[in-house]
Amino acid sequence: METSVTTEKTETVIEKISIYSLQLQELKDWLKEHGEKAFRAEQIFDWLYKKRIADFSEMSNLSKNLREILEEDFTLTTLKTLVKQESADGTIKFLFELHDGFSIETVLMRHDYGNSVCVTTQVGCRIGCTFCASTLGGLKRNLAAGEIVAQVVKVQQALDETEERVSSIVIMGIGEPFENYDNMLSFLKIINHEKGLNIGARHITVSTSGIIPRIYQFADENMQINFAISLHAPNTEIRSRLMPINRAYKLPDLLEAVRYYINKTGRRVSFEYGLFGGVNDQVEHAQELARLIKGIKCHVNLIPVNYVPERDYVRTPREQIFKFEKTLKDAGVNVTIRREQGSDIDAACGQLRAKERKEETR
Ligand code: SAH
Repeated sequence: METSVTTEKTETVIEKISIYSLQLQELKDWLKEHGEKAFRAEQIFDWLYKKRIADFSEMSNLSKNLREILEEDFTLTTLKTLVKQESADGTIKFLFELHDGFSIETVLMRHDYGNSVCVTTQVGCRIGCTFCASTLGGLKRNLAAGEIVAQVVKVQQALDETEERVSSIVIMGIGEPFENYDNMLSFLKIINHEKGLNIGARHITVSTSGIIPRIYQFADENMQINFAISLHAPNTEIRSRLMPINRAYKLPDLLEAVRYYINKTGRRVSFEYGLFGGVNDQVEHAQELARLIKGIKCHVNLIPVNYVPERDYVRTPREQIFKFEKTLKDAGVNVTIRREQGSDIDAACGQLRAKERKEETR
């Protein structure tokens, strides 16, 4: 085969990786390879996660040469804020643009116990839940660990103006975290690290639609992280209708994996249960749900459906939500109704992106 160099080839830029993708140890290794002292890694982490600078040139205790070679190998600001929507209740939703033009959402929620950030793990999603806006347009790509970390840094930088702190993280934005497992795990380790953002494992929650092999793997990691499963149905038939993934990863097997997780970690799990009008919100569904999860150390989070224009589910009336909750309580189930936040902005998973980026989500 003849080789010819095309302009396209010669102009190919080598993609730099985000410095936020690196564990402290990886940064130490990189420094050693470049003839620098390992302790510089701690100084760099300090600039990134404690001082939260916006440019390598601000790392004033590093030599000019080191700052330059950092800049040659890594990127720092990879997220560009496209939209920032503020709700009357303090919820802020960000739409960020990535270096390749795709967009993702990140949400800051304010609670009386602190500030929580909901992060995205994938551009789009291929799970195909029939009620969810994130899955419109399918999966474009996985996020790098650093692109997930950068979301938290960005929100923390916004909070720095009022001297507030991100105190908890929920991995409940766009995407299925267990389909981007390794990067999700790297992300967890970086934000959890005391020299990083230092967010305690017990203040982090990850949610999955039910990727069974990964649930076993996650159980074996033995991290003290809160674990949630999107259940949404009291039986196989309804779950398959709402979540096509239930055909590949069946409900009884899912519950077995959840039991394994609980035995292995000693922790309880949360089941998320979206109430979809007329589909899964009747008293008999609550009774069936109570029977289904009997004996499992868990908590049920009821989520009143967020209306998505592209989807045709309707909300469950308030009295019906309370009836559903009471039926579960009477059957001895721990249950809460999720407090709604940001309902005056496009706060449901993937909604803002779907509205602002029609070409990406068709
Ligand atoms: N992919 C993961 C992480 C998303 S978490 C998962 O499925 O668990 C976001 C939660 O909100 C999930 O439980 C999801 O099923 C739920 N959700 C998505 N769209 C919704 C909608 N329109 N109304 C109510 N809940 C919704």
